[in-house]
Amino acid sequence: MALSAPTAARNGDAPRCDHLDQVRQVRAQATTCAGCLACGDNWIALRLCLSCGWVACSDASPNQHAKAHYQETDHPIAAACEPGSTWRWCYIHERNV
Ligand SMILES: [Zn+2]
Ligand SMILES: [Zn+2]
Ligand SMILES: [Zn+2]
Repeated sequence: MALSAPTAARNGDAPRCDHLDQVRQVRAQATTCAGCLACGDNWIALRLCLSCGWVACSDASPNQHAKAHYQETDHPIAAACEPGSTWRWCYIHERNV
């Protein structure tokens, strides 16, 4: 009398993002991209690192400083900086989480 255990992942092919446990209660450290200001460039949008509060420009921006922050620090999850947005991005899984 074996119980049938669920074996398949419930959300399709996408692996569950196990990086969300690195998300902290952070306060944004800035309202601008320091890297862009330093070299006089513009950005399209800003992202907020949810591990340390670092603010940097998104992948749509020419300099992609948020991605550079991830590559330097391994902080995996960034959020959109717009107030009220719940958009979050995992750099390791390369998808919304
Ligand atoms: Zn992830
Ligand atoms: Zn930038
Ligand atoms: Zn960070």
